[in-house]
Amino acid sequence: MSSPENIETDVAIPEENLEFVSSCALPMPWATFQLHAFVDHVSGKEHLALALGDVGNGEPVLARVHSECLTGDALFSQRCDCGAQLEAALRRIAKEKRGVVFYLRQEGRGIGLLNKVRAYHLQDGGADTVEANLQLGFPADMRRYTMVVPMADHLGIKGLRLMTNNPRKVNALVENGIEVLERVPLVENRNPFNLRYLRTKATKLGHLLPSHDND
Ligand SMILES: [Zn+2]
Repeated sequence: MSSPENIETDVAIPEENLEFVSSCALPMPWATFQLHAFVDHVSGKEHLALALGDVGNGEPVLARVHSECLTGDALFSQRCDCGAQLEAALRRIAKEKRGVVFYLRQEGRGIGLLNKVRAYHLQDGGADTVEANLQLGFPADMRRYTMVVPMADHLGIKGLRLMTNNPRKVNALVENGIEVLERVPLVENRNPFNLRYLRTKATKLGHLLPSHDND
């Protein structure tokens, strides 16, 4: 992994240049969160953090690192479990009255919205979620989490209790210098449309979904 000292020499993987832009109150059905907006001047991507309570007091923070899924988060798609996971994370944070959701703009495990629709088209023809990405010439998972570091720093967050089923995400965050003190499982919205997707995530991407072993 590159350190801050060698950003200039690391031409293979451009680093983010993340800047905090502004914040506002965001009333949601479960609580009024504080929405913090950031922009990455390298990619042009806008990233968000939804924070509730005093997240900068040094205590571990209940957190979700959520990659954008327009179809699941906003359009109620049942092909994946993203929307249900996002809502469950926000509900849990509201219940604890403290926590943060990092909302990262990397649609379709990083391949973008249009390529995700292409991948879904291949899945309609029989490919699974990993095979579809590979057939399109992409890795199975292109997401990165380096931008979480300056976002967490900005909010004064010292360590996370991370809501995820994905050990790779935990490892990626830890490799980037984020302290993850606990993994909190988040199993939501199994339905007939996403059973195969969830099973593929478990078998090919290492997600921990023990309740799927019997399927
Ligand atoms: Zn999704």
